[in-house]
Amino acid sequence: ETLSPYYYTDKPAGEALTKKRGKFSHKGTFGHALILAGRYGKMGAAVLSSRACLRSGAGLLTVHVPECGYEILQISLPEAMLSIDPNQRNITELPELSSYSAIGIGPGIGQEPLTVRVLDELLEQISTPLIVDADGLNILSKHPDLIDKLPEKTILSPHPKEFQRLAGDSANEFERLELARNFAKKHNVVIILKGAYTAVILTNGDVHFNSTGNAGMATGGSGDVLTGILTALLAQKYTPEDAAIFGVYQHGLAGDRAAERKTKTAMIASDIIENLGW
Ligand code: AMP
Ligand code: MG
Repeated sequence: ETLSPYYYTDKPAGEALTKKRGKFSHKGTFGHALILAGRYGKMGAAVLSSRACLRSGAGLLTVHVPECGYEILQISLPEAMLSIDPNQRNITELPELSSYSAIGIGPGIGQEPLTVRVLDELLEQISTPLIVDADGLNILSKHPDLIDKLPEKTILSPHPKEFQRLAGDSANEFERLELARNFAKKHNVVIILKGAYTAVILTNGDVHFNSTGNAGMATGGSGDVLTGILTALLAQKYTPEDAAIFGVYQHGLAGDRAAERKTKTAMIASDIIENLGW
């Protein structure tokens, strides 16, 4: 390699990726997102990722949740449509996929065997862009055969612990980055290595470091918000690369606005959502 594979998403680079909303657009223009999230005791993850998805411009959103999530979602997020799993507590059945333009899976889904099967079936059937996060990643770590089924340019958004489970140990940050670059190239996926300077690693191994965000985002649910943003951008036909770079940038920017208004100490993941917008 002669050219440096490192890039920095500063303000101009971030803003350059913004897609403007055309005057004659309608909700169909912005895609129909599907999010599979939540289980008994973790429905907050479904609410946060879903609300962030709607706040990031998706035309329509359907959320697939276990039955226990029905009232929670309908009441807290009336803009979302629901696909209700027959199981009370966990996601156990894959909804019909034909009407969706992008899919996000993982926040709060747990790792029950039937949920693993849902992810497996999803990977067999999917023909739209995909983002896998949280327990979705933990399932991949425990079932490496599923990694080989990931559609090309799937976005994976692990925090350091999830990445370690997925790709193994590394002695330091540089080694971890190299491990992630090799993983991205080998499996043809886009990896978002989350942290203080989140790194977006493209399928060719290029690394885009993000410039926005702050330690106030080290709070439960922050990552679920990012999953929702990414699902929305994929539904709006951002390429997986642009979705990852731009989504991470806007997530951090919203976190910075939230910190300014609430302080880093008091801000919570919902405040990130309330400060989204471009
Ligand atoms: P998760 O651990 O899945 O909830 O994801 C946490 C999110 O918050 C990721 O998007 C991180 O990049 C972000 N985050 C966590 N800690 C920090 C930090 N110290 N500075 C900037 N962003 C952070
Ligand atoms: Mg997370």
